Amino acid sequence: MEKLNYLAFAMPAFFLFVWLEYKAAQRKKRPELFKYESSVSNISIGIAERLLNLFVAASFYQLYYYVYDNYAIWDIPANWMVWIALILATDFVWYWYHRLGHEVNIFWAAHIVHHHSEEFNFTAAARITTIQAVIRTAFWCLLPLAGFHPTMVITMLLVHGAYSFFTHTQVVGRIKWLEYVFITPSLHGVHHASDEKYLDKNYGDMFVFWDKLFGTYQAEEEAPKYGLTHPLKSYSFLWQHFHYYFEIAESYRRANGFKAKWKAVFGSPAHMDQDIRPELEKKFLQCRSLQLRQLRFKGYLALQIALCTLMLMWFTFFFAYQDIADKVFTLTFILLTLVNCGALLEQRRWIYYLEYARLLLLSSYLLYNNDMVEYIFIPVALLFVAEKYFSLGQRYQGYILQTRS
Ligand SMILES: [Zn+2]
Ligand SMILES: [Zn+2]
Repeated sequence: MEKLNYLAFAMPAFFLFVWLEYKAAQRKKRPELFKYESSVSNISIGIAERLLNLFVAASFYQLYYYVYDNYAIWDIPANWMVWIALILATDFVWYWYHRLGHEVNIFWAAHIVHHHSEEFNFTAAARITTIQAVIRTAFWCLLPLAGFHPTMVITMLLVHGAYSFFTHTQVVGRIKWLEYVFITPSLHGVHHASDEKYLDKNYGDMFVFWDKLFGTYQAEEEAPKYGLTHPLKSYSFLWQHFHYYFEIAESYRRANGFKAKWKAVFGSPAHMDQDIRPELEKKFLQCRSLQLRQLRFKGYLALQIALCTLMLMWFTFFFAYQDIADKVFTLTFILLTLVNCGALLEQRRWIYYLEYARLLLLSSYLLYNNDMVEYIFIPVALLFVAEKYFSLGQRYQGYILQTRS
């Protein structure tokens, strides 16, 4: 049992803090700090990242060891002074990783997802994607390259990652004396704001002095307006992840000459043509046939998120003991459910096809585990009959989406 993964407990801890923050927001009479749709969307993105991370984390760690064993520049010993040097070095690397994430299109495509949320609370901290984690790992390799031992680096990254969770909240207000040294929730809130004077400020994660040193520091003055300058008006799980890559591709296609094409990929997001996104949305999200109205299926959605979280917790804890079929099933089932949650928020008509896909996936997995795969025709036939004779699709839409007309 030595291979159990205790990171599974980060999930209940996360929900505990979200719940405490929610209660605090209610007590402060600030219910607007949370918005149902945005919380569901933020948590969905976080679940996907934690899920995919299980498959890639080991290779990230191996990469640190590989870099350290083959290319370490200095031989840095492991004593308490080194921990201080490492925490500073980590935050310094983070500063540049984060700053380039805002200044270079191809990096912004991954980091933009973190900034979609117009609500600034603990759930927004969960908006990290695996693509972002891959880019970040490339930057983190600088630490073992400098000669910090990978075990220390990995420990530090966990601490560093945990710190930034707590800077995503509005319930604590400004703590001015802390701002001399640390990035506080107020300072990171400025980073998440779309107000002109707050743009491209406060890239630090733990310490404030990199921003002061490189001229990107800004204290909170007026109350920030959170989110992007050009907000993404979609809760689609896939579109949120990939829209900016499509924008880059379109901008690249339109660009004439090498210099313009280079800029489309490596130029500044500030110069991205703002007409591209609405055009792409028209093309890719055209089947948005329903206007957003009062959500009538909050319970159903909450159940799905709870189900995904429980599955993910169990999956994380016993990851080393799962066989390939368990892995493929859990990965696909959770990802389909998250796409489903996004589609529910957008009230898409095609959503019941996804529900069919999930039911079939679940039945195939159960049959496979019992060596009865050849009986897959039974659930397929049942679904067919339900659709043909009981109009399951229409009933589903009528009940979940309230679209009976
Ligand atoms: Zn950022
Ligand atoms: Zn943030």
